[in-house]
Amino acid sequence: MALTLQSYAAGRWIAPGSGAVEITSAVDGHVVALASSEGVDFGAMVKHARQVGGPALRAMNFHQRAEMLKRLAVYLTERKPALYELSYETGATKRDSWIDIDGGIGTLFAYASRGRKELPSERFVLDGAFEPLSKSGSFAGAHILTPLHGVAVHVNAFNFPCWGMLEKLAPTLLAGVPVITKPATATAYLAHAMVAMIIGSGILPPGALQFVAGSTGDLLEHLTGQDVVSFTGSATTSGKLRDHPTISRNAVRFIAERDSLNAAILGSDVTPESPEFDLFIKEVAREMTAKAGQKCTAIRRVIVPRERLEAVRDALAARLGKVAIGNPRNEAVGMGPLASQSQRRDVRESISRLAMESEIVFGDTENCAVVDADSEKGAFLSPVLLHCANSIRAQRVNEVEAFGPVSTLLPYDGLEQAIELAQRGEGSLVASAFSYDPKVTEELVMGLAPFHGRLYLVDRDSAKEATGHGSPLPALVHGGPGRAGGGEEMGGLRGVFHYMQRTALQGSPAKLTALTKTWGTGAPTSTEGPHPFRKNFDEIQVGDTVETPARTISIEDIEHFANFTGDKFYAHMDEEAAKANPFFPGRVAHGYLILSFAAGLFVDPAPGPLLANYGLERLRFLKPVSPGDSIRVRLTVKSKRSARLPDYGEVRWDAEVFNQDGDTVAQYDVLTMSARPA
Ligand code: NAP
Repeated sequence: MALTLQSYAAGRWIAPGSGAVEITSAVDGHVVALASSEGVDFGAMVKHARQVGGPALRAMNFHQRAEMLKRLAVYLTERKPALYELSYETGATKRDSWIDIDGGIGTLFAYASRGRKELPSERFVLDGAFEPLSKSGSFAGAHILTPLHGVAVHVNAFNFPCWGMLEKLAPTLLAGVPVITKPATATAYLAHAMVAMIIGSGILPPGALQFVAGSTGDLLEHLTGQDVVSFTGSATTSGKLRDHPTISRNAVRFIAERDSLNAAILGSDVTPESPEFDLFIKEVAREMTAKAGQKCTAIRRVIVPRERLEAVRDALAARLGKVAIGNPRNEAVGMGPLASQSQRRDVRESISRLAMESEIVFGDTENCAVVDADSEKGAFLSPVLLHCANSIRAQRVNEVEAFGPVSTLLPYDGLEQAIELAQRGEGSLVASAFSYDPKVTEELVMGLAPFHGRLYLVDRDSAKEATGHGSPLPALVHGGPGRAGGGEEMGGLRGVFHYMQRTALQGSPAKLTALTKTWGTGAPTSTEGPHPFRKNFDEIQVGDTVETPARTISIEDIEHFANFTGDKFYAHMDEEAAKANPFFPGRVAHGYLILSFAAGLFVDPAPGPLLANYGLERLRFLKPVSPGDSIRVRLTVKSKRSARLPDYGEVRWDAEVFNQDGDTVAQYDVLTMSARPA
């Protein structure tokens, strides 16, 4: 029986009113689900997100939200089998579903981990260091990021209903912004199943996630400058939404990921005997057939040296000929159907437009032998490889996206032409360069980078562990300029910050320190009470300071250090050679000696709550220290952060080493672990 997809709005599941559309199975055409958003009050949804979801999420800090994402990821992982079963109806093979379902859940895990490791246990982010703005240091600036007070509307494409939803949801929820998510109708039943699990889990606070089954009605009319629309889909729809009067009038943030005519380039150095040749063939064939080519990152333009054209064509044809097409439930099948009959019509139509200036060298647009299925009832299509001999004159190949198992071979004469052909895509998500020649790779990178969001540089050294041309990764930016939409998703924390406002604060260092909970130069310090190494994590206060006595550095200290460590660099050991160096007045102390002596000055040695020093950051040696100079240290608690383990916290200290004239000779951050009270 067909599923009836409900919208989840203002805390209630809403059954569709009249006019529900039938969603059919990609595999055999039976009706899988009915969807319509008629009867949904979109204004109430936006209000609910703003008044209920937003405040609940903003009451949590980044670590609590990261924890929430992790629990959600674990919860969904335990319920994957039901999603895999439903995913077959979209035409996805098990491997395709792995990208969609496990890949999506993996993004939740990745953001949970980044949130815990890279964001503070606060509700804002300090972006960069304090900026001194006055001569005497009484006025300074700092940047903070805070979550927007609106709602993020996510509009997704049909091809990856789970991944597409979760890769947007994870950074948005981590930022502290509620979401209204709308899947493409063609595969909405899979997104619906996942959202029902998420809501059912009770892990998210009320109002954090709402769901639209069907069209978005008047949703966009309710948006303001505190809201974000993040869209994935075709350029046509993207243009329509971007030009929506409310979006332009209210400067609603708009992120778009759309069509992309991605290229793979075979370097001019690669011969059929090179390992890179086989890697290239495998990657192109895989990108054509994974998810039946319905991937935003799929290789559409295969750019090869003219003299390699035949070898590439034959090798690709041989590989594509081995791909079994059919029922994705059958384990022998390598490629399932397209997502719907209408998608197959669109792809056939696009192929016929491409074929006006290219010839089909592999595949048949009308007939397709299938395993365990009916090629007409299901939306099956054979892979189609075209060859465009006059690549430099061609236009359609740089304009038409056949969103299916379709690629075109484009021969080039000289690397410059290869770059020009790739650039004619007018902005893509990704391009691959297969070469083992560093010069060829460098030329390609410099020519391609401004036109792409990601470059995949593969050779024999990296191939074994390389993640694939078509895999956007949570750590790396996903997006591209121009035709690809000009958006950037994921990219680690970059994706989180799209949903936050960056604000410059100006004020006294004392005020900025109190607001940001981070000590900055010029803010008050306190040397009262016991040495801060004797204080546990909860007792330590930002601004707590140790001012040490001075220690004079002798020539014997320098020689002892040199002999002990083996560092006998001439600047420490040879007066004449040191003098000849423009930076030194003569023999000087080792930088590491200064660090070691500084630690000797500020450390409180007895066992106590300070457990370990786990690193230094931002270290700079600013002035040489000569024999006879004396150094002293000011060590100040700069910031505190809860660690992953509940028994400890991380403390960042500002260390500044001065000479006898009060000049700074070294400055750095010391990172330590301190115990919490038992
Ligand atoms: P689409 O037709 O543009 O639809 C995309 C989304 O927009 C769907 O959820 C659709 O909902 C919705 N939509 C359509 N008209 C709308 C309107 N007037 N107001 C609000 N929402 C509207 O694209 P698609 O066919 O699903 O996806 C294929 C395209 O997406 C390809 O061009 C592909 O390159 C691109 N894509 C890009 C990326 C990327 O990351 N760059 C990823 C995947 C796909 P309905 O389904 O209900 O109409």
